[in-house]
Amino acid sequence: MNTATPSTTADAPTQRRLVIISGPAGVGKGTVEARMLQDHPEVWVSVSATTRAPRPGEVDGVNYHFMTDSDFVAMQERGGFLETAVVHGMARYGTPLQPVLDHLAQGVPTLLEIDIQGVRRVRERASELGLEILTVFIAPPSFDELVRRLAGRGTETAQQQERRLQTARVELAAEDEFDVVIVNDEVDRAAEQLWQLMAQEYDIK
Ligand code: 5GP
Repeated sequence: MNTATPSTTADAPTQRRLVIISGPAGVGKGTVEARMLQDHPEVWVSVSATTRAPRPGEVDGVNYHFMTDSDFVAMQERGGFLETAVVHGMARYGTPLQPVLDHLAQGVPTLLEIDIQGVRRVRERASELGLEILTVFIAPPSFDELVRRLAGRGTETAQQQERRLQTARVELAAEDEFDVVIVNDEVDRAAEQLWQLMAQEYDIK
């Protein structure tokens, strides 16, 4: 009888932690992420689904999967999302589950950029799904700077901006729930810090 212990690690890559970035609206999460991807295109970033309308220049399937409300709800009911949230009380957002599981199983450095409610939801479901996560809070250098950045967006009405600001105040208070904090005072530096975390998690030299 062959008593040798079968190797469980020889073929399948070790599953690494799913890295999740979040932070207040306007803090520049997307800019930090985009900067890191310029230098490290091997990182796979989940493409979320949303029911909000595309902004000028946004491409379906690249920035988001733009969906109708009924298609979104149908996908949700099928269990197709890792997490969903209604953001700013207006639109639904969700992370399609299967692509995340597939990339992690292949050992691909995998990153989510979602809001704080979404992070909480993933945290609640992680063990049920056999996921380990590393949560990263992108923080502004100061609240005043965050207000300036929000005002600078220019694509929204005053009422929408005020709603974002209100959410931002609440979201800033969530910093302590996160494993790591990166202050986005300078995009290149913040992007490099994010990359260092990813490289460490996925054992990239
Ligand atoms: P925006 O509409 O400006 O692209 O994004 C608004 C907010 O939705 C951002 O805070 C962003 O992090 C969040 N968001 C984007 N995709 C998802 C998602 O799949 N799940 C959750 N929970 N939030 C998301």
